[in-house]
Amino acid sequence: MIVDIITLFPKLFDGFKTETLIKRAQQKGLLTLNVYHLRTWARSKHQQVDDTPFGGGPGMVLKPEPLFLALHDLTGGYQQRPLVTYFTPSGELLNQRLLKELSSIEHHIFICGRYKGVDQRVLDTWVDRQISIGDYVLSGGELPALVTLEGMTRLIPSVINDIESAHTDSFEDDLLEGPLYTRPEEYEGQKVPEVLSSGHHAKIADWCKEKALEKTRKYRPDLWQDYIKKNKQK
Ligand code: SAH
Repeated sequence: MIVDIITLFPKLFDGFKTETLIKRAQQKGLLTLNVYHLRTWARSKHQQVDDTPFGGGPGMVLKPEPLFLALHDLTGGYQQRPLVTYFTPSGELLNQRLLKELSSIEHHIFICGRYKGVDQRVLDTWVDRQISIGDYVLSGGELPALVTLEGMTRLIPSVINDIESAHTDSFEDDLLEGPLYTRPEEYEGQKVPEVLSSGHHAKIADWCKEKALEKTRKYRPDLWQDYIKKNKQK
């Protein structure tokens, strides 16, 4: 997978690029991550990338020209055009289903907004997908890009050593993951549920499912309702 990121703050990606999952994916040749500074494509005298909004109002807007030039450069020369994603609070809400879909696409371009956002003409001309990571406003698209990148990368086969572990995570079967325990079997008077050390795989699986159902119903009634609807149809 190739991910090209356009940002005004490339250094924000440094730690993430050189540690753990993203590092491993790159070392294994499964991910190529390119972080580009938007100012590289600024052509004005002071390398300005933003300007005041037409119609007035507070804040600044990212100008179309540097982004158009960047996107011309980064999409050129490929047989299949990369998928261009812009991170914005008005986008489609990110979830596990969307991450799966994205992780099957080979080449991505991520645009990280700043200030008030980007000129609408960039969205109209270049952007295939708009993604939000939640109903709140951050100062830039860098964290949303990293959230999406990490979520996508761990779904690439052989990036994480134990892919089975990812398959038992929350949302995989439309439920939250149940409680987890490790050694010691008793800690400060609290015992691990007996069934977990019974060695009886079917019973353990039933227990885990039951706890996952309980937890989802309690903490995420919205997911619970969806689960019930789906399973009724089945
Ligand atoms: N004026 C915009 C918010 C701008 S925040 C609005 O009202 O919707 C500045 C930048 O941060 C945005 O361009 C976007 O790239 C990013 N951003 C902020 N919150 C985000 C979120 N919840 N999801 C995805 N991107 C976000």
